[in-house]
Amino acid sequence: MIATVKRVFPWLGNVLEAIYTVGHGMFITLRTAVKTYRPDRKTFTEQFEYPELPVPVAARYRGFHRFDLTTCISCDQCAKACPVDCIYIGKEKVEGGKGFKITGYTIDYTKCMFCALCVEPCPVDCIFMGASHDLSCYSRDGCIVDFSRLPLDVAWGRSAINPTAVAQSKVITEPVHGGPNQ
Ligand code: SF4
Ligand code: SF4
Repeated sequence: MIATVKRVFPWLGNVLEAIYTVGHGMFITLRTAVKTYRPDRKTFTEQFEYPELPVPVAARYRGFHRFDLTTCISCDQCAKACPVDCIYIGKEKVEGGKGFKITGYTIDYTKCMFCALCVEPCPVDCIFMGASHDLSCYSRDGCIVDFSRLPLDVAWGRSAINPTAVAQSKVITEPVHGGPNQ
C-alpha cells in the first residue's frame, strides 16, 4: 500500500514509510524486552553451562585459527594476504636441503579481525578458522599466540586453544614439531 501511495504522493509515501519503519523497530524492541520477563526464562549459564559445555557455533564460524605446523611450507602467502599484517612467520633455510623450516608462526589477536583472508591463499591447506572463541586473558601478551609453540592438538584445533596453553607456550623456545619439510 505504501508503494502505491508513494507513486501518487511521494512525500506522503515517505512519511508513511518512516512511521511504519519506526513502529516496526519499536515493536521488535518491545517484544524482546517483554521476553526477558517470562517466568520460564533461563539465564545464559543455565542454557549453555559455559564453560563446561561450549556455546554451539555455526559450521562456518570464524574463531581462533587452526594451524598445522607439520604441513606449512613457510611460503608467506597468508601473511601477505592479511590486511592488518598480524601474522608473523619466522623461518630459516634448511641446511643442505630445499626450502625453509618454520621457527615461529605468530598471530597477534589484538589486531586480527577474523576475516579469514589468510585461509584462502594457503597452497597446502594448513590454516583454517576454528571454533574457539574464548581466549580471554589479562594482558596483551596473552593475545599474541605463537602456534609453533603450542601442542599440536591445540594448534590444530582438536582441543580448544586456551589461555593456559598459550601461557605455557611462552616459555618454549623451539617449535614443538619438525614437519616433513624441516
Ligand atoms: S583472519 Fe584476517 S586479520 Fe586475522 S590473521 Fe587472517 S587475514 Fe589477518
Ligand atoms: S600460506 Fe599456508 S603454507 Fe604458506 S606460510 Fe601461510 S600457513 Fe604456511
